[in-house]
Amino acid sequence: MIYNFSAGPGVLPEPVLREVQAEFLSYKQGVSIVEMSHRSDAFATIVEQLEARLRRLMQIPDDYAVLFLQGGATLQFSMVPMNLRETRRFAYLDSGVWSKKAIADAKHFGDVVVVGSSAATKYRELPAWPQTISDVDYLHVTLNNTIEGTRYTELPDTDVPLVADVSSNILAEAIDVKRYGLLYAGAQKNIGPAGLTLVIIRRELIVDRQLPSYLAYSQHVDSLLNTPSTFSLYVAERVLAWVEDEGGVEAMERRNVEKSSLFYDALDASPLFHAVVSGTERSLTNIPFTTGDAGTDEAFQRFAEAHGLIELGGHRSVGGLRASLYNAMPLEGVKRLIEVMHEFEQEGQDVSYKNV
Ligand SMILES: *Cc1c(COP(=O)(O)O)cnc(C)c1O
Repeated sequence: MIYNFSAGPGVLPEPVLREVQAEFLSYKQGVSIVEMSHRSDAFATIVEQLEARLRRLMQIPDDYAVLFLQGGATLQFSMVPMNLRETRRFAYLDSGVWSKKAIADAKHFGDVVVVGSSAATKYRELPAWPQTISDVDYLHVTLNNTIEGTRYTELPDTDVPLVADVSSNILAEAIDVKRYGLLYAGAQKNIGPAGLTLVIIRRELIVDRQLPSYLAYSQHVDSLLNTPSTFSLYVAERVLAWVEDEGGVEAMERRNVEKSSLFYDALDASPLFHAVVSGTERSLTNIPFTTGDAGTDEAFQRFAEAHGLIELGGHRSVGGLRASLYNAMPLEGVKRLIEVMHEFEQEGQDVSYKNV
């Protein structure tokens, strides 16, 4: 049994992978899903179902459009400022590596005001929300910091549209869509294969700004502009069906709280390992941890791999260890990880895993 703790592309539900395998050679019309026209009736049904499921799961109001794009969350770092610019002043919270990248890209399209930064704490804490904010087109926040393992649980009262990168916590916890002007997420953390990006945007924010066609949100509303990543859309629709069958976002959040609490408790009690983030800012989905020694962290990673627990390395920019506990990670996987950590504490730190 292999448990995959990858931060992304992440683990997907096994029943969905089996279903995809069974249907791969012949989807309904006797051809593979990857051979079908994205304009066919069968494929249009998949996209309609996907949108309907997402709207039900996240309680997306009708005055929001759902767009299925490509280019990852990274392309949204540019599409957001391109499409939302009125005054060309944008506010950003600098809470981690991904927000830093979003800030860098936004600077191509206007003035970026960094209204809070926790760079000085190496992003182990979250910057506070600004007290008041005005005269900007939007306020951007990375709601769950995938690399650093922090997450916001409270939102400010503000008249400025809130824009959030929810790549690593979408469908993992409740997100109150109507508090936001725009939400975006790469699908590969919690929703499906890479190649699909979701944008949920309040319709009144969609303004024609004479952009090249693909880059304009207005071109993607209520129809497919060009050939999407058809396979990713198809798998995402099946994953969302699974989420609905399992009890929806509420059930996912309950499980994610249970899994992450178990893991944080084990870290807090461990004589060897500790969590990098403390207190109420701890992420439900991405948990960085360390022994405090790079060599021992690496030795544990190899020890864990030998026990079927893979992708426990921290992001290349920060090092250490990280366990991502997305929706499809079962509780058993977390229990197994804790067991293996205990084994390593007792006997695993021997030379065969070190100094390789
Ligand atoms: C993974 C991730 C990204 C980058 O996503 P791509 O789809 O690879 O562009 C951006 N932001 C957050 C919060 C992420 O977790």
